[in-house]
Amino acid sequence: MSIVRVALDVPLPRLFDYQADEVAESDIGCRARVPFGSGRKLGLIVAVAAASDQPTEKLKPADAILRDMPPLPADWLALCDFCSRYYQHPLGQVMAFALPPLLRRGKLPRPRKVSGGGTPAAKSLPALLPEQQAAVQAIHASGGFAAFLLHGVTGSGKTEVYLRAIDAVLAAGKQALMLVPEIALTPQLEQRVSERFPTACIVAAHSGVPDAARARGFLDALAGRADIVLGTRLSVFMPLPRLGLIVVDEEHDASFKQQEGLRYSARDVAVLRAKQLDVPIVLGSATPALETFHHAISGRYRLLELRHRAVAEAPPVVRMVDTRKEKLQDGMSAALLDALATRLARGEQSLVFLNRRGYAPVLACPACGWISRCQRCAANRVVHLADKRLRCHHCGLEAGIPRACPDCGNQDIHPFGRGTQRLEAALGERFPQARVLRIDRDSASTPKRWQALLAAIHAGEADILIGTQMLAKGHDFPRLTLVGVVGADAALFAADFRAPERLFAQLMQVGGRSGRHDLPGEVLIQTEHPAHPLYRALAEHDYAAFARAQLDERRAAGFPPFSFQALLSAEAPEIGDALAYLAAARAAAVPLADAQVSLYDPVPMRLFRLKNRERAQLLVESTSRPALQALLAAWSERLRALKAPRELRWHLDVDPLEF
Ligand code: ADP
Ligand code: ZN
Ligand code: ZN
Repeated sequence: MSIVRVALDVPLPRLFDYQADEVAESDIGCRARVPFGSGRKLGLIVAVAAASDQPTEKLKPADAILRDMPPLPADWLALCDFCSRYYQHPLGQVMAFALPPLLRRGKLPRPRKVSGGGTPAAKSLPALLPEQQAAVQAIHASGGFAAFLLHGVTGSGKTEVYLRAIDAVLAAGKQALMLVPEIALTPQLEQRVSERFPTACIVAAHSGVPDAARARGFLDALAGRADIVLGTRLSVFMPLPRLGLIVVDEEHDASFKQQEGLRYSARDVAVLRAKQLDVPIVLGSATPALETFHHAISGRYRLLELRHRAVAEAPPVVRMVDTRKEKLQDGMSAALLDALATRLARGEQSLVFLNRRGYAPVLACPACGWISRCQRCAANRVVHLADKRLRCHHCGLEAGIPRACPDCGNQDIHPFGRGTQRLEAALGERFPQARVLRIDRDSASTPKRWQALLAAIHAGEADILIGTQMLAKGHDFPRLTLVGVVGADAALFAADFRAPERLFAQLMQVGGRSGRHDLPGEVLIQTEHPAHPLYRALAEHDYAAFARAQLDERRAAGFPPFSFQALLSAEAPEIGDALAYLAAARAAAVPLADAQVSLYDPVPMRLFRLKNRERAQLLVESTSRPALQALLAAWSERLRALKAPRELRWHLDVDPLEF
């Protein structure tokens, strides 16, 4: 009689032992159907043992061991185990998350009809530029683990470097994993990869892939059939027995960090995985995360720079428009309006960037001070004039727009502030001859509508685009020559220490939309702080100067990457309960924390009420990652044991990006 040790999808940080006949070491990594409570569950066998800690006769027998797919390999189990320990998340839940839903439920997808492999259209590749050549060679020569930061602006030929590096890996009979952000996974990239590698088996893995295809892709990867996996953060968990290279494109992108459940950073996990498998990893970006840049300049990562654009074109001219000196018209300066008029006259496209959707952020009554608060959140409801609603952007609660103040009856109530819809209306009035197109999560609410909008832009069916960050990334609009930035200043002085980093990346990206081809580009930034170092660095296209200045500030303040953080959050119907839980949690941590760890006081979160749940958080920080990890391991056990009201929920976020 043997024992199988099974990881189950339950919120308990332990494994479950079952009796099993005729099992062998080779069954590790197979799925097992087992009794659990009054029902049945499917789990993964992570160990086979001769004996259990519990008396064998007390153990229930496993119902079945599923051997209909190859067992998950040891390195995959080790990766899940690392994530479980590092992110303080039960192993069974990590594994359940990493497996496609179909396989998790014990089903197998029907095999794919094999479409006859196309003949490679032998296209001639461009000769690499010297810096590209050096990058490809360095990656190729790494001969094992090495982390590279490939730093280069959009259009500098990073993707070409990835493709060449992947080519070399495929030629050596190995697999490549390419991670891309959620939003940038455009069909264009998939197409570019499949055109480059027409005979390769390419597996796409992102939220748009249906269940059956996702499971098939996973099995292709597991069996070693897949040559390239191209996907979003989740694909970092793809089993790849012949893995030879990992690429993380736009490595700074926030979508690599999951904000719920297993709060992992796919970029960080990818680096760990590369190390584990002794293969090179390339992190690419025009605006690397400061953590990554810090590693690159301190020598832990190797810095590969592409200083020149691959296709000869000058970077856009960036100018600040000082808005302290003039009265704006609908939030826009004369300089911006003139520039828009010029583009219209020349038949070129413009983009006005405002990262706030809706018509106005709030509706207010000047007579009594009423404002359109959300009843469920500590936030205002946003005026959406397009469909005449007041809508909370946090919980979705909505209502019609009242004709009069609900408190005092005053009929003279106003929208305050400005969102994309208001800009759209203003620009439509000011330039009646122009075709104005708004692109935000309201107008592009489904992938289909989004594709239709993109197609309209490409077909030249719009003169002025108004967009949020949705429009900032990865798109190439040939006739776009002007980008106007409105309302960016707020992020300069935000409480979040990462706000400037995000703003810089965002503006660099949105600015890069202009002048991508033969037409020169111009970026106008409306600001009350034209001399701000962030804007200055932007105007000089000098990421490094910005990054070094930011790193100096972070060092002085003891922020990441000069410290490591974890955030314990609690939510309950009453903020008092959340705070009380965190206070008890803090008290439990005190005896566990060594001198290198700082425990801050519990505080209400900035958005302290969300969907009628009140939220608070407790920050833990250390200059030593091992010290922090040691605390978290001991602490998370205590946290589970702490008394709390039934309604209270808590979670730990290791290396949090959002506060
Ligand atoms: P990035 O990924 O940095 O935005 P890409 O690799 O997409 O840059 O390159 C930008 C454009 O330049 C693409 O159209 C690409 O085909 C072209 N390109 C890249 N490298 C070269 C090269 N060495 N010679 C000519 N064109 C190149
Ligand atoms: Zn009123
Ligand atoms: Zn709300």
